[in-house]
Amino acid sequence: MIAHKHPKHQQWQQELTGSIRSVPELLDFCNLQELQTDYDARAHHAFKFLITRSWANRIEKNNPTDPLLLQILPSKQELITSPNYQNDPLQEQQQSPINGIIHKYHGRALLTLTGQCAIYCRYCFRRNYPYSSNSFNQANWQNMVTYLTQNQDIHEVILSGGDPLVLPDKILQQIVTTIATISHIKYLRIHSRIPSVLPSRISPSLIEAITHSRLKVVIVNHINHPNEIVAEVTEKFTLMKQHNILLLNQSVMLAGINDSAITLAALSHKLYEANCLPYYLHRLDKIDGSKHFEVSLLKEQTVMRELLASLPGYLVPKFVTEQPHKKAKTPIHIKL
Ligand SMILES: *Cc1c(COP(=O)(O)O)cnc(C)c1O
Ligand code: SF4
Repeated sequence: MIAHKHPKHQQWQQELTGSIRSVPELLDFCNLQELQTDYDARAHHAFKFLITRSWANRIEKNNPTDPLLLQILPSKQELITSPNYQNDPLQEQQQSPINGIIHKYHGRALLTLTGQCAIYCRYCFRRNYPYSSNSFNQANWQNMVTYLTQNQDIHEVILSGGDPLVLPDKILQQIVTTIATISHIKYLRIHSRIPSVLPSRISPSLIEAITHSRLKVVIVNHINHPNEIVAEVTEKFTLMKQHNILLLNQSVMLAGINDSAITLAALSHKLYEANCLPYYLHRLDKIDGSKHFEVSLLKEQTVMRELLASLPGYLVPKFVTEQPHKKAKTPIHIKL
């Protein structure tokens, strides 16, 4: 084992602590007046607000419709209630056999380790997830390990949340070590926005913590727009690839942000240049307050048809929707 120095707080932890937590501060940073935007303080109170300075730096100044700004700005449109929009659209609580585990699909168990993220996305479908009873703690962890051990058809463990990479290296290392002792588990998957939102988190000690075991490691990133991929992100992706981590990406199709074939094609190319392949493109999950992100069925068809016509097959993400009580994510058919 390589010995690492353990300073009290690593650089990424200081950076996360120093994140922007106030909307007026963000607007000021972006040279915007409140009235130019849809910002509403009541929406702010409905869900956490935090963005890293690294993310804020990628927002174009003086642009109230910047695609990175719109993903995180508490908007007055979130206060509108709409039919078919719900508190728990995926009914995930019903697919949770024990606290901290969602076991919906054959062979894969998803662990919700924390409710914390390094950015809070306004369209998040786990906005209302009861994390307090489902997060990592010693008692939950014992039960989770027992469940994973007893269910021998589980071959992949997915660390999710929230964002699992907010957990300290030491905890992640212990989690991975323990999972690797369960012989029927072969793959470790991490769903995270952090490699792109807080690139300094991708340190040698983190890579060691997640790759030290016999498990094959895949990170599913969450990037929606090409402007999210700056040089530092590409560097960290390259580093992870050098350590044999498979990098995939999932996006959500969001109105006014990436609902265009040109934007999505540019995203695929930029991902590939950063050693990452597009995996899923999700239809928005109908969580309360997110209707303004919805893309019409007609527009979905146009965008996907154009995307299919402009990219090699391996750069086209699978366009899917998540439904309660289905055996897999549902592919959305595109008429060519
Ligand atoms: C999406 C998802 C998975 C992973 O599904 P894949 O199609 O293998 O990417 C696993 N569990 C839950 C609860 C999910 O929502
Ligand atoms: S990073 Fe993921 S879990 Fe966190 S707010 Fe965004 S979509 Fe939700």
